[in-house]
Amino acid sequence: MSDIALEELIYLVITDSRNEYQAQLYTDTPANIVEIEFNKIFQQIREWINIELQREAFTCQPEVDKTLTLAGMQFNFRIDRVDTSQSGELEIIDYKSGSVDIKKWLGKRPTEAQMPAYALACIEAPIRSLSYAKLKTGEISRNGIWFENNKEDNPRFLEISSDSTKDHSKRILSNSKWCNENTTLMKQWKENLTFLASQIVSGEMPVSPKQATQSCRYCDYSAFCRISEAQPESQSDEVLS
Ligand code: SF4
Repeated sequence: MSDIALEELIYLVITDSRNEYQAQLYTDTPANIVEIEFNKIFQQIREWINIELQREAFTCQPEVDKTLTLAGMQFNFRIDRVDTSQSGELEIIDYKSGSVDIKKWLGKRPTEAQMPAYALACIEAPIRSLSYAKLKTGEISRNGIWFENNKEDNPRFLEISSDSTKDHSKRILSNSKWCNENTTLMKQWKENLTFLASQIVSGEMPVSPKQATQSCRYCDYSAFCRISEAQPESQSDEVLS
């Protein structure tokens, strides 16, 4: 497909979508604002397609319902998108319009457990990648973990944009706070999330906020939980730069 044909197709699709939601979303919005938003979405999709075009052929399944049971607790979720490569490997994708930090998937108490949970729920097939589709103007990219040749013990932390690929693997894998080099990420996720689920199931509620300065800042129950008497271990997060 030529660039012109591709852009015409994108234009048609988002025009259809705009027409469909016009009455619900845009009745009170000035036409020039709608036009600006339309053009922004067009550019975002165009740039995202450039990233998609770097990939091998795949089939795409949107909004996939999955169930995961951990420590007897059942979680139901809908995954934005699960692609399947020609060799049958899965690529799990979640759309994000804001900042992303893959390190939040890691550690004993992941701040963002959603993607690790998705991976565990899709374990019936080999997983090639687990990534966020970051659709933020000026920062369009695919950020996540790739398991090369289906080797769980060799994850790569990549940030793929339309014109470059940054590899954060060395920096993340060398930090024992994020990754245990003696076991695979899948096993760490299974163990860590099962432990957290078992605490919830058992009703265990230790006073141990992961980041007290943030978690407790607006909480009215500090007198009740007596956080000032507890000294939880800090596990502060960093942000990928
Ligand atoms: S003040 Fe206590 S109850 Fe509130 S968030 Fe912090 S640890 Fe939890």
